[in-house]
Amino acid sequence: MASVTIADVEKVYADGTHAVKDLSIDVADGELLVLVGPSGCGKTTALRMVAGLEEISGGTISIGDQVINHLDPGERDIAMVFQSYALYPHMSIYDNIAFPLKLAKVPKAERDEKVRRISKVVGLDEHLGRKPRQLSGGQRQRVAMARAIVREPQAFLMDEPLSNLDAKLRVQMRAGIAELQRELGVTTLYVTHDQVEAMTLGDRVAVMRKGYLQQLAPPEEIYRRP
Ligand code: ADP
Ligand code: ADP
Repeated sequence: MASVTIADVEKVYADGTHAVKDLSIDVADGELLVLVGPSGCGKTTALRMVAGLEEISGGTISIGDQVINHLDPGERDIAMVFQSYALYPHMSIYDNIAFPLKLAKVPKAERDEKVRRISKVVGLDEHLGRKPRQLSGGQRQRVAMARAIVREPQAFLMDEPLSNLDAKLRVQMRAGIAELQRELGVTTLYVTHDQVEAMTLGDRVAVMRKGYLQQLAPPEEIYRRP
């Protein structure tokens, strides 16, 4: 675990779109910070720059005190969950979650211990022998999160992870995510366009508009605009 610092970051796309302007956000160690704002304000671009999926045009991004600007995604100790995620349909839930550990050649006993621990936290420990198609949408989303986080990355990024779920499930999962984050204490940057989601989940909320950071405060201090 470590803090994530976005300092004076700019993004200008090849076509000249200035998507992120002088963005500075620090996510404290163990904090869940929600980045919220209307469609097109630059949230996803910001997240993708932290993940290393998009080059930054200026500024610095650090994890702890290490500047990561020039690291490839695979060299960053960061996990990411998107709104569309794919589980391996032919693998059991256990094997889906264990997959990143296998890739990282984590020894079997340790792998087993980690998969069991994370499965308990996300409430999937009863379902490890099933296949993805035997689970509900919300359960599958939790598998995707468990798989992303099982390697215990320094930071966890989520981009609208609940947007494909129905309203009822979204509310349930919201509570689940807050719990998961508290339990694991992993530094998390969470992107959504949903103000209610932002206010419910965030230790602090960063509001973006047209590429700029408009506000950064605990939810109770966020000034809402129509
Ligand atoms: P959000 O996640 O808040 O909806 P995005 O980060 O996706 O916003 O987009 C911010 C701005 O950058 C938008 O104007 C969008 O059209 C533009 N944009 C996103 N990706 C690209 C790209 N690959 N090339 C050019 N412009 C882009
Ligand atoms: P490998 O392919 O390296 O043999 P497996 O994925 O078959 O590894 O199993 C590794 C370990 O994971 C097993 O020893 C077992 O403890 C555990 N395991 C595998 N599948 C399940 C499951 N469905 N439920 C609970 N534990 C499982």
